[in-house]
Amino acid sequence: MSYETMVKVKFPKKKRIALVAHDSRKKDMVDWATYNKELLTTRELFATGTTGTILERELGLKIHKFKSGPLGGDQQIGARIAEHEIDIVIFLWDPLQSHPHEPDIYALQRIATVYNVVLACDRSTADFVISSPLMDETYEKLVLNYEKERISQIDRLLS
Ligand code: PGA
Repeated sequence: MSYETMVKVKFPKKKRIALVAHDSRKKDMVDWATYNKELLTTRELFATGTTGTILERELGLKIHKFKSGPLGGDQQIGARIAEHEIDIVIFLWDPLQSHPHEPDIYALQRIATVYNVVLACDRSTADFVISSPLMDETYEKLVLNYEKERISQIDRLLS
């Protein structure tokens, strides 16, 4: 695939942020969100089930909650990313433990990269992201034009 097949997709001014934290990182997520609460309240927030419930309870944030991660929540976030409905993912995953939904975790990280969304997997990156001047601007990201690519692939397959 080449850069000629890239298309521009707009991040809106009001960024749509997905928040996910593994159990051992949930306290970290609460601390991070508390520190950045003011910046978060003006955005549209999504989260996996337990992470979202905790953040609503502890911080009073309004969050669209998906299913719990191991029950499909990571995949639901991935689906929203594929529809260009999520711009930023703050994913505090646990690098020291294995999880039953390992394939879903990898899939979320992969799809975030495929669609060129902002992906922060640690608190310092998340701090830099949330305080970026681009948070309050429209931003055009480049995404591969898979549709164009797919059509030429079909042509190749049938030739
Ligand atoms: P949870 O899911 O917020 O429902 O705990 C997070 C995850 O483990 O992916």
